[in-house]
Amino acid sequence: MITHLLACLVLMPAVACHAGDDDSRWYRGNTHTHTLWSDGDAPPEHAVKWYVDNDYDFLVLSDHNVMQQGERWFAITPDGRLDPTKVDALETTFGPDWVETRQVDDATEMRLRTLAELKTRFEAKGDFLLIPGEEVTDRYRLAEVHINALNLERTIDPQHGDSVEETIQNNLDAIAAQGVETGRSVLAHLNHPNFRGSLGVENLANMKGERFFEVYNGHRSVDNEGASAKHSTETLWDLALTRRLRDGAGDGAILFGLATDDAHDHYERDAVSVPGRGWIMVRSNSLQADAIVDAMKRGDFYASSGVFLEDIVVADDTMKITIKADPGVTYTTEFIGIMGSDDPETTKPRVLASTTANPAVHRFSGDELYVRARVVSDRPHPKPYAKGDFEQAWVQPVTVQGQP
Ligand SMILES: [Zn+2]
Ligand SMILES: [Zn+2]
Repeated sequence: MITHLLACLVLMPAVACHAGDDDSRWYRGNTHTHTLWSDGDAPPEHAVKWYVDNDYDFLVLSDHNVMQQGERWFAITPDGRLDPTKVDALETTFGPDWVETRQVDDATEMRLRTLAELKTRFEAKGDFLLIPGEEVTDRYRLAEVHINALNLERTIDPQHGDSVEETIQNNLDAIAAQGVETGRSVLAHLNHPNFRGSLGVENLANMKGERFFEVYNGHRSVDNEGASAKHSTETLWDLALTRRLRDGAGDGAILFGLATDDAHDHYERDAVSVPGRGWIMVRSNSLQADAIVDAMKRGDFYASSGVFLEDIVVADDTMKITIKADPGVTYTTEFIGIMGSDDPETTKPRVLASTTANPAVHRFSGDELYVRARVVSDRPHPKPYAKGDFEQAWVQPVTVQGQP
């Protein structure tokens, strides 16, 4: 196994390589959720508890341009985002001493719990991790530029720029700079590119130092499917990968895809953005923020909206995906990519092979610029982003061509 792993790392440095013989396991997490600290509808402890109770291992509270730090009070009002029934529910769940309120003139306010307090409450048993984060929320003219920053120490203000591309890059650079400065493993992921038709192929292609974007965001306003935008987010991914890997756009490096909730609505099962629609599974040997982020940077994770995988093994000549199959459910695995010899004018990335076998194995021809995989089940998503959605998983692309 060690031989295989070394061969894999040497042959495909951009590839997730798995020997499967260490202490690593899959950790389930969501990196995009909002609370009352910005425009979510729940106190942070209510949001966190849902993930704790629903088999997640880690969570990033990613409020807009703010981290859950310092003293912050929120008005309790019958018609506001924090109504008395939500406060009563907190007291029932967390105990009467948990809720802190104060009177300011005629208003009653509740103090929002900080990330440090939430960590004390939810991480005590060592089986759940809150990774500090922020959705750095910027725009250039009508284009929304939202980038999640994971494992930050302190807030990053939107950096702005004189074009969409510069706005993206300035924010990415500021996030990376904080990682260098603090010595933390910091990661940025570009969010919901089709939200308000904001970003296009070239924006994803030209990013430097960025390896991550949301191929699936559970908020119903973000247009993953590309109904109003030019391309679906999956097609954006393929076209940007082709530009980067074939033409050297950006820094010519691979781009990984995440699924996230972008949850704002924490009290309803069927609303615009609820928890539980999309997540990532990260293979790490510990539930520590640096380890989780480092595993993601190696590409050792997949995105899911319901399909779980046992294993992903990439060797020099094959990609093998073993699905954690449920009885009675059919899983179709599509291997997607493009050949180096394809005519760039006429041939786009496409499904290279499809199978319902488990494990699903694809043998490389050696000419592929990259190969990624999508596993689609025939089981409907229990909390669908769009009516008729099935549970899926997205396996990260690997580079093939040019490897010895
Ligand atoms: Zn956003
Ligand atoms: Zn968001």
